[in-house]
Amino acid sequence: MPETDQLKVVQVALKVPFAPHLDYRLPDDMPAPAVGARVQVPLGKNRSVVGVVMGLVASSPHQKLKPIQALLDDAPLLNPASLDLLQQAARYYQVNLGEMVFTALPAWFRSTDNRPIPIQHWWQVTVSAEEAAARLSQAPQQLAIFDYVRRHGPVMSKMMSHLNPAAAKLCRQLQDKGLLESSEVCFVATDEARDPNFELTADQAQAMQFLSQHDQGFQVALLDGITGSGKTEIYIRFINQLLKQHKQTLVMVPEIGLTPQLFQEISQRINGQIAILHSGLSDGARARVWQHASQGLVDVVVATRSGIFTPFKNLGAILVDEEHDLSYKQQEGVRYSARDLAVLRGKIEHIPVVLGSATPSFESLRHAQTGRYHWLQLRRRTNRNPMPSLTLQNTQAKKLTKGLTHTTLSRIESHLDDGNQVLVFMNRRGWSHKLLCHDCGWVAECDDCDAYLTFHKHLELLKCHHCDRRYGLPEFCPACGSQQVETMGVGTEKLAAGLADRFAQVPIVRFDRDSVSTPAQWQHNLEVVRSGDPCVIVGTQMLSKGHDFPWLSLVVVVNVDNSFFSTDFRATEYLAQLLTQVAGRAGRAKTKGEVIIQTQFPEHEFFQTLFQQSYEVFAQQQMAEREAMMFPPFSHLAIIRGQHGNESELERCLQRMGAELEGEPDLSVLGPLPAPMAKRQKLHRMQLILNSNNRQALHRTLHRLRNQHNPHQGTIPWFIDIDPVNFD
Ligand code: ADP
Ligand code: ZN
Ligand code: ZN
Repeated sequence: MPETDQLKVVQVALKVPFAPHLDYRLPDDMPAPAVGARVQVPLGKNRSVVGVVMGLVASSPHQKLKPIQALLDDAPLLNPASLDLLQQAARYYQVNLGEMVFTALPAWFRSTDNRPIPIQHWWQVTVSAEEAAARLSQAPQQLAIFDYVRRHGPVMSKMMSHLNPAAAKLCRQLQDKGLLESSEVCFVATDEARDPNFELTADQAQAMQFLSQHDQGFQVALLDGITGSGKTEIYIRFINQLLKQHKQTLVMVPEIGLTPQLFQEISQRINGQIAILHSGLSDGARARVWQHASQGLVDVVVATRSGIFTPFKNLGAILVDEEHDLSYKQQEGVRYSARDLAVLRGKIEHIPVVLGSATPSFESLRHAQTGRYHWLQLRRRTNRNPMPSLTLQNTQAKKLTKGLTHTTLSRIESHLDDGNQVLVFMNRRGWSHKLLCHDCGWVAECDDCDAYLTFHKHLELLKCHHCDRRYGLPEFCPACGSQQVETMGVGTEKLAAGLADRFAQVPIVRFDRDSVSTPAQWQHNLEVVRSGDPCVIVGTQMLSKGHDFPWLSLVVVVNVDNSFFSTDFRATEYLAQLLTQVAGRAGRAKTKGEVIIQTQFPEHEFFQTLFQQSYEVFAQQQMAEREAMMFPPFSHLAIIRGQHGNESELERCLQRMGAELEGEPDLSVLGPLPAPMAKRQKLHRMQLILNSNNRQALHRTLHRLRNQHNPHQGTIPWFIDIDPVNFD
């Protein structure tokens, strides 16, 4: 073992794809950096970049090492547990350590200028709503801000700029009046946090008993509970239990829109500091949360996907809400699954992990069945409200008004008349599905992608949803010159317009990527919904998740039939999860809930199993089929995908790789095949699908392949997607 002062070679992970780390020389006059701290180093001819120290050693196989330029951190930014997680994750996802490290690091820490993190001001109220109303009767703008903070707080003034561009100033005025206080941490200091006055249901009590007895050491629990069965209550009590032991909790949610809601619910019930972490926050705010978590200044972090890498001082558990949600899988760069990394992290840090869902993924169900995960089931709704009634509306040979049948429209009317809210769910944005020539059958397609164009009426143009390229609207068919060019099919824009025509007396609130792209717009829409007044909510996928809309009594689902024709073997699993989740939104109201699904295939066995029986029965049946075909969760998949402008060159490259994989034990290789979306942004896309029942063997093979063909050195760029969740 060499003396520490002889360790003059520093191994540094960099954002480069070709090596796990590079060696640098520690100048004699520089103190040795800590492992996990950042340094600034030269790269290539004249670049200077940030790297993270992975280790110090006495010598390097390389000659003429370049010196480290600067130390950026006094204390390590990444602790040993985080480094361990990143190392294992890099191996698992077949990427270089540096790529993994820089995927995890918030943008703020990737820059060499190393400025101090700016101070954030989070606001929260200090007095009751009544007192504020009395004192602010002459100041409506201040009252509106106060009210917002009271309902959503703690918030940063930036998060209220949609309410009032002068929010920052108004907050300071309210602070001067003693109605608001500010803090650097997203904070809560309730001293009145107490449990609500209900008893846990028998299922909840059982789940809680298990978690209380297993609050130390690694253990995965699958909290499998129907919507409204009180999963959140379990999270909260578990967090409180850990808090009493001075431990921190990481709560994962699938998307930004859900963070304020869970934040609220938790903050009202715990006496501690909570932070939220998602991509809607500024770089500085995100860096702050990292810092606070690693210094132990926050007790709970509610985070979206990349939050899984947040370093904690004393992490006690990781809770993953809606664990089946595909948003946990990153679909570009390093294709990691935050849910799977939560389990890995639990193992590394010896802490429990809770995966919660009303519709668990088949992977998690399988682990629960084999006993690898502990299965906690909540089978009853807490309020004993009956599950909503369900009708399948046959749309075949029916006249539709902007996508809806006559019966559906009159049901919507009746629910609105009763003073309730209605959700119409449709997973396609824009005005129409495609633009078609009635004379020759020409359909408008993207020049760069293998995809139809969608008409957006308010923009008066056609848009490709895969590359965002925009096109003008043709007056004549470019193929035959006919004027009979018309839009076909319905998207959320058209649906909302139709509903606005018919139900002019209520607001139509649209949630899709076109109308809601910032947290502020989300909040704005949520305000309308939370007012409780009758309205029609039109939403895509975005809305299928755990949003609590207490006044919703009718849910209408439109246009999901294409799942039955998908080439993805998981399409019906996803559809079942989606429909169950969406249907679960109905009937939290006092009125009995109703769900209408418009379909051309009301007789389809899929609907019969899912709705006459249950998600669980459906899952059992599907899993039996998967087992017979040797597909996940009974096997392990990886995709090797290449993309290139030249199709035949691409095919040859993948063919060569495929040939090298031939004869590997326990491995079947399919392809090269065009990806379901065969062309995107001018690039042809092809893939090899690897299926294996031996995880270790699959990873060994991929590792070798990666050493033989550096994905970044050949002329054809390619990547590996481990445990792919979609194939498009
Ligand atoms: P889930 O997350 O499983 O869909 P929630 O946790 O949102 O369900 O619970 C639904 C509602 O039931 C919430 O308003 C919650 O406060 C309430 N609740 C939870 N547990 C109980 C209980 N044991 N008795 C009565 N109400 C409960
Ligand atoms: Zn034509
Ligand atoms: Zn395109």
